[in-house]
Amino acid sequence: KGTKQPKPDWIRIKLTTGDNYQEIKDMMRSKTLHTVCEEARCPNIYECWANRTATFMILGDICTRACRFCAVNTGLPTELDLQEPERVAEAAEKMGLRHCVVTSVARDDLKDGGASIFAATVHAIRSRLPLCSVEVLIPDFLGDRDSLQIVMESKPDILNHNIETVERLSDRVRAKAKYRRSLELLQRAKEMKPEIPTKSSIMLGVGEEWDEILQAMDDLRAVDCDILTLGQYLQPSPKHLNVEKYISPEEFARLKEEGLKRGFSHVEAGPLVRSSYHAHEQVKSATKT
Ligand code: SF4
Ligand code: SF4
Repeated sequence: KGTKQPKPDWIRIKLTTGDNYQEIKDMMRSKTLHTVCEEARCPNIYECWANRTATFMILGDICTRACRFCAVNTGLPTELDLQEPERVAEAAEKMGLRHCVVTSVARDDLKDGGASIFAATVHAIRSRLPLCSVEVLIPDFLGDRDSLQIVMESKPDILNHNIETVERLSDRVRAKAKYRRSLELLQRAKEMKPEIPTKSSIMLGVGEEWDEILQAMDDLRAVDCDILTLGQYLQPSPKHLNVEKYISPEEFARLKEEGLKRGFSHVEAGPLVRSSYHAHEQVKSATKT
């Protein structure tokens, strides 16, 4: 325990720059917007931006929580930026996005957890880019039903909420979030708007056992979750949770099979898969079912 695992060959950053990459980067700076793509140094950035997919982080870049795997800063967030939805939509329009993911830090300091800003962002993107699919990747809103309802009423194309890890490791890995509360959120989302596909993600390599992963898949299917993404956890800094294991591409392939067998309409699984990776394809496959 605590020994550092060497990084295997298959964790490689693809360094092919897309045509409009620099241009988009400059625009982000000029609009003081945050993309997870840049801030998490996501290895898929060139591919995603070239495919016209991006993930915006709204509600600031300071989180009220401190999950042990996450590189986002913790603290007391500043005030609410009511212009943000419009700026995100404008940037999405300039990028010519076909699939836009909107996520946020956990704003436990706000009464609705930021739900109304999520809804306003979905509406703003829709009015500028009617053909762009919008996925929201939401925090748990401390289990507040009304906040979830506000988001669901904005009718995103995909409702995403990550359980992040298996039940046994949840408290250790996710700070204030709770495994059962996250499942309940996914279940409620489905009850509120059955036509909207739900999605969740598990990051692997933090000490989970194979059977526990399968159990988590069963738990997600039990609340009718449609789409699953599985990726490798990478340690953002030495202060963060250690990587306990690198899951091989073969194991990811087997997990994908297990997921499809359980009835997920789409499973994206691989070392560099992130919650929003290939998300535009998931919209297509989810709406087919
Ligand atoms: Fe951005 Fe998500 Fe693609 Fe990474 S996987 S580049 S965070 S859209
Ligand atoms: Fe990071 Fe989200 Fe946890 Fe905040 S709640 S620390 S943004 S994973």
